[in-house]
Parts: sequence; structure tokens; C-alpha cells
Amino acid sequence: MVVRMVVGLALTVVALGLAGRRLWWLARVGRAGQPAPERLAAVRSHPARDVESEFSEVLGQRKLLRWTVPGIAHAFTFWGFLVLSLTIFEAYTNLFDKKFPGIGHWALVGFIEDLFAVLVLAGIITFAVIRLRSNPRREGRDSRFAGSHTGAAWLVLAGIFLVIATLLIYRGAQINTGDFPYPHGAFASQLVGGWLAPLGTGVNSVLETVFILAQLAVILGFGVFVTYSKHLHIITAPVNVLFSRRPDGLRGLEPMRSGGQVLDFEEADPDTDVFGLGKIEDFSWKGLLDMATCTECGRCQSQCPAWITGKPLSPKMVILDLRDHALAKAPYLLAGSDEAREKLPDEVTAEAGRPLVGTADQHGVIDPDVIWSCTNCGACVNECPVDIEHIDHIGGMRRHQMLIESAFPQEAAGMLKNLENKGDPWGMGAARRAEWMEGLDFEVPVASGELGGDVEYLFWVGCAGALEDRARKTTRAIATLLHTAGVNFAVLGPAETCTGDPARRIGNEFVYQMLAAQNIGTLNEARPRTIVASCPHCFNTIANEYPQLGGDYQVIHHTQLLSKLVADGKLTPLSSIEEKITYHDPCFLGRHNKVYSPPREIMQQVPGVQAQEMARCKERGFCCGAGGARMWMEERIGKRINTERIDEALTTDPDTISTGCPYCLVMLGDAVAAKKASGEAKDSLEVVDVAQLLARSVATPVPAPAATTDESGQAGAGGATPDADG
Ligand code: SF4
Ligand code: SF4
Repeated sequence: MVVRMVVGLALTVVALGLAGRRLWWLARVGRAGQPAPERLAAVRSHPARDVESEFSEVLGQRKLLRWTVPGIAHAFTFWGFLVLSLTIFEAYTNLFDKKFPGIGHWALVGFIEDLFAVLVLAGIITFAVIRLRSNPRREGRDSRFAGSHTGAAWLVLAGIFLVIATLLIYRGAQINTGDFPYPHGAFASQLVGGWLAPLGTGVNSVLETVFILAQLAVILGFGVFVTYSKHLHIITAPVNVLFSRRPDGLRGLEPMRSGGQVLDFEEADPDTDVFGLGKIEDFSWKGLLDMATCTECGRCQSQCPAWITGKPLSPKMVILDLRDHALAKAPYLLAGSDEAREKLPDEVTAEAGRPLVGTADQHGVIDPDVIWSCTNCGACVNECPVDIEHIDHIGGMRRHQMLIESAFPQEAAGMLKNLENKGDPWGMGAARRAEWMEGLDFEVPVASGELGGDVEYLFWVGCAGALEDRARKTTRAIATLLHTAGVNFAVLGPAETCTGDPARRIGNEFVYQMLAAQNIGTLNEARPRTIVASCPHCFNTIANEYPQLGGDYQVIHHTQLLSKLVADGKLTPLSSIEEKITYHDPCFLGRHNKVYSPPREIMQQVPGVQAQEMARCKERGFCCGAGGARMWMEERIGKRINTERIDEALTTDPDTISTGCPYCLVMLGDAVAAKKASGEAKDSLEVVDVAQLLARSVATPVPAPAATTDESGQAGAGGATPDADG
């Protein structure tokens, strides 16, 4: 009894000391990051919302349960450990030969403990099977565990197995020595007790002591191991979820911050301020916490269009590479003085000298091709069970490369110059923004100054909608439908300029802010009741990013308005369209802004349409490849993302592919053109906006716009654009 107590307490003191020292060191590393006062303020101002997130995401395992089998296995394991924490108390009370007050007598408690012990076992067996079936050695990059530390994962599974095994053995032995507190209900312990009974009371008494100590040793060892491994997420995940952006890390990008304050370009000094993420210590403590929280589950990687099409970007590997670098550089960050730094081992100094973004030759932590491959589609953020904010981190590194290093894909330089000088990516200029209206059989009101009180909607046309041939057809269809429905709307015409989305997403915050300020000035003057945007990128920027600069507006997407007009009987689809149509979810409409139903509702209302979903749809929709300013960069590595998407669409044998975004229209249209040329798609296959479908059915002929471009141009690097060099 005394030996049991002394050994148990000694193990506890050693384990707590080791784990505590490691956690203290990790906390100091976190403090080496930039402050993030906005995260603390958000929690203080919305405590109820954050409590709800903790309940749904941490306790309820909401995001994990989207993946049914691994989700249930994880939930069993997680809930099991919460319940089995009671048995840890029991093990300690057993050290002192005491009964834990209130717990050791209720048969129900004994039953629940055993039930969860069995469920945890079932959970880890499921995990083992999943890991054996999705083995990176066999599946290569198709395995979501490719690049994860699989050895540590197996150690953890073995550790959890030992926790449960030692628990059931000491409880079984206790039944035979008469020490077991539960008269009945603990079915698994009774089963094990039955197996051990023939050994006699003396042996069972020894087994009881040995396995109580073994259980404590395993739990304490596991606790120490957690602080040195990816299983740190057991501790950090609830904190990371608490301080994550609400409602999620999608929609708008984070503003540029230096020292916790939003950067003011007028005052900023590149020598003293943080301009994007150029060093690991430029990340905020929340960014560093993201790195410490990654579970290496690979859910993000499995959904990433860049990774799936063979590019070097894996959102998981970005986080893991940053984490490994942060830990390796930590002694340098914590050294405190130049003198102390000089005494550091060479490998730490070498690590500290690595550029955050750089090629293999430069010993960069993250290869430039990694950050420039991202389409900002949001699949990673949407999937991540612990709310890691990959897009902000990639965006932060892009900002530094763009603004400080001037190192970005040079084919995008023309787009940036055009935005700066002409206000649209193609450099066509404001005067041509009204061309799309030519030939319409009604007049589109062009606003100047404040809109009249009777104007219900300001139709935000967007650069593509005004200037790109295929998107112009959508714009004319929307305007015609609004006119048919008797909606009082107006457009800004030449007063509209690019929202700045491509500049912001490529990392040029300076150009973005310039364009955004101009638009906010125009919109504040117009004072629209509601803005209806046809481009999801414009929609996202005005709705979610302009508020960061003081522009607060009510914004909807055209599919939301059109579906409402159909539902209200103001538009009646009459003509039958006897076609199989598959709808492609634009990432910035669907995943970023959760608009999934309205486009589908419109299609349902068109007689004759047979709507059919692709396998990857709605929140699991697959990107067209244009977001994150990828529209203006060459796609040199791997399979083209738009081709991958069209290959999937073709599996549904569609007559038409519909969408709700001008970027998607161009990217998918180009891939379809290539498929037609190679004979893989039928000549009649079209890519259209849902508004065009509705306009056809409402039977108002929409006159064709005057052409400005050759539609056979390839997307990427401005190739599909009206006039890439202005
Ligand atoms: S946003 Fe999309 S492309 Fe970028 S890392 Fe995430 S999943 Fe990959
Ligand atoms: S970033 Fe999130 S989804 Fe990706 S591996 Fe880490 S925990 Fe999993």
C-alpha cells in the first residue's frame, strides 16, 4: 500500500514536472508571436457565441462528424476520455485505498465507465483500420495521411489501447479482491474479472497494485508525450476554437496588422512594421497556436484542389512545415539577447536564417509554388476540425512576397498595373463599362450621386460582368429579368471600379485599399438600400471586406434575388428546357458565403430541367481554379483544376453546366472548349449562368452583346481576358 502510494505520487510529480516545463516553453514560443488583441476582444464581446462554439465543435465534435466513420470513432474516443477521467480519480483514490466520494457506488457510473472504455477500444480499432487502408506508402499523395507523422500516430493508438487495457485489468482484479466499488453494471470489468478469477485472490491483489500503477504510468506518460507530439491538440484545440474567427475563417481576409494594430499605409514603415508574414515571428500568437493545434488528420489536404491536381500545395503541410520551423527556431526567438544568440548551436542559427518563403536552393521553409498555387477556395478551412485559418496564413505570406520582396508570378503584373491605372484587370477603362447595355430593348438606369428612394437595388455589375464577353451575357440576362419582373434597379456604370478582390488575394493590399476606398466613396454617396452582385468575388468583397474599411452594405447575390422573384411570382419560367443540367458551386458563393439553395431553386422552377449533382457539390464543391487571383497566373504544375472539374461534370453526361460566377464561367468554358476539341465532350455542351437559363425559360429573348473578345482564348494569366495588356 505504501509502495503503491509512493511510486504513484513519484510518477505524478515527475510527469507533471516534464509536461509543465514543456507547456511553459510552448507558451513562451507563442508569446514570441505578434499580439492579436482583436481575438481577445471578440471573445469578450460575444461570450455566448463562443460558448456555443465550444459546445458544438469541441464537445459536439460537429466538424469531425461530417466524416461519418472516422468522426464517430473520434467522438467515441474523445467522449470516452472525458468519461474515463473519472477512472483517473478512482485510480488515485485507490492509491490511498480510499473510495472517491459519490462515484464509487452508483452502478450506473460503473456501467457508463465500462461502456465508454469499450467504445474507446472500438474507436481506436477503427482508426487502426483507417490508417492501414489509407497508407501513404501504398496510396502516395492520394492518402490524406501523406506527409503526416504516422509513427507518432501509431504510438498514440498504442498508448490509448494501454490506458484501456490497464484500466480493465485492474478493475477486473479488484472484483476478485473485493475492492471493486460497483456492485454491478461494470460489464467489461466483470468479464475481465471472470478471466482473472482462477488466478486466486493473492495473484489478483498483486495484479491490482501493478495495474493501478501501470495505468497511472501510462496516463502520465501519455500526458507527457502529448506535450511533445501532434496530440498537443488535446490541450490546444478548445483554445484555438475559442479564439478562431467567427463565424469561420472564410469570407473576408484578415486585415494587415503590425503589432496587433491594423496597418495604416500612410504611416507604415517597412523597416519597423510587419508587412505580411516574412518571418515566423510575424505570425500572431493565434497563428502559432494554429500550428500547435494541427492534428495532422489530412482532411484539408484531401479536399484541396491544388493538392488533388498534383501541385506542391498541401494546406496540412504548410501548417506542419511552419510548425517544425517555429519549434526549431524557438531557441533563437527566446534567447533574449544577441550575446545569448551567439552561443546557440549552429543548427538553430541556420534555422533562424532560413527565409520563410523560398525555393529549395534558398532553404526556404515554404516553397513559392506552394503559396501561389492556392485558389483561396476555402475547402481546407471548411474541413479543418480545429478551425485552423490556412487562407489567412497563405495570404499573409503572399502579402510579404508582393509588398516587400516584389516576388510574385510576373504574368500577374499586367493585371495589377491595369487595376491601378484603369480600375479593371484588363485595362479596358471605365468608359467601356456601359457597353454591355447596348442593344437591350429597355434603358438601364445609370446612377449618379445618391440613388432615388424608389430604387430598390443597386446592381453591381463587376469588371467581368461589364467587360468580359461570356459574363456580359449573364449581365444582360440579369438586367432583362429584373426589368421583366418590374424591379426598380440602377447600375453605377463608369462610376464602378474593380472591388480590388484580385489585388487583395494576390497580396497587394495597397492596390486593394486604393480601389476599395474609391468604391466605398461612391457607394456612400449612392446610399443603396441593397446591392445585388452578379460576381461572388464582388459579393464577398463588398459584404465581408469593405466593413473592415468602414463600408457597411446589405449585399445579396443575383441568384438570391432571382429565386425570390420566382418564388414571389414576379418571374414565371414557362418555356421548357429539356436538358440534364449539373450545377457547379462557385467557392466564393457557396463555401465562403453559404449560398447553396437559391441557384438550385431557380433550376427546379424551370420546366423540363433534370438537375443532377456532381459527386463534389455544395460545401464539398470543387474549385474551378480561378480564385485567389489564380485567374491571372499560369497553371504550370499538375493537371489544370478546371479540367479536373469538367472531367467530374462529364461523368453526369450533362447537356449544360450551370454556375453563378463569371470566373467559373470562363474557367469551365475554357475546359469544355478543350474537351470538345479533343472529342471528349459533345459539341452542344454549354456552360451558362443560372440567370441565363432562367431568362431562356421566362422567354424574354436577350439580345446578344457586342463581342469584345475571342472566346477561344485560354484562361490563366489573363489569357481569357478581353484585353490582358490593356
Ligand atoms: S484555400 Fe483551397 S487551394 Fe488554398 S490551400 Fe485551402 S483547399 Fe487548397
Ligand atoms: S490543418 Fe486541420 S484539417 Fe488539416 S491536417 Fe491539420 S487539423 Fe487536419
